[in-house]
Amino acid sequence: MSIEEDFVFPVYIYDEVLDRIKYFSNNSEKEIFGYLIGNILKWNDKNYIIIEDQLYIENAVHSNRFSTSQIKGKAGEYEKTFKELKRKRKNDNLRIVGWWHSHPDFGCFLSPTDLHTQEYFFPESYQVALVIDPIRDEFKFFTLDKTSEKKYKAVSNAIILSKR
Ligand SMILES: [Zn+2]
Repeated sequence: MSIEEDFVFPVYIYDEVLDRIKYFSNNSEKEIFGYLIGNILKWNDKNYIIIEDQLYIENAVHSNRFSTSQIKGKAGEYEKTFKELKRKRKNDNLRIVGWWHSHPDFGCFLSPTDLHTQEYFFPESYQVALVIDPIRDEFKFFTLDKTSEKKYKAVSNAIILSKR
């Protein structure tokens, strides 16, 4: 396999966004989730993303008991908030580039429910799932991978940017 075929796009994320997600996760014993907001960038026909903000979906808990239809209900609520965010940041190109959720003390991976959520709501090649374990102090980005047995893979390069 050539380097080009093996290319896994890097994920860029601002430290303040990551800190915010860590903050929410640290303050909840439940598995909480939110959306990752950012821009899509291009290099040699490959898309990669920069995560500039996040939307924490309050009172939503992502778990095996949390059904797809419940997320769908929440999606309507966030639509308005997302529009406000675009206005506030004066950036109409902002997209939902993925989602984040916490795994309190059970490590970073995608469960069958998580994989279903990714396939159903975030099927684009550039869309990622950020899983954060606040107890073990770990986080990982994942993307769909149809060729692998697990159907997903970890993103090898996550680059944390500082606005300072
Ligand atoms: Zn999960």
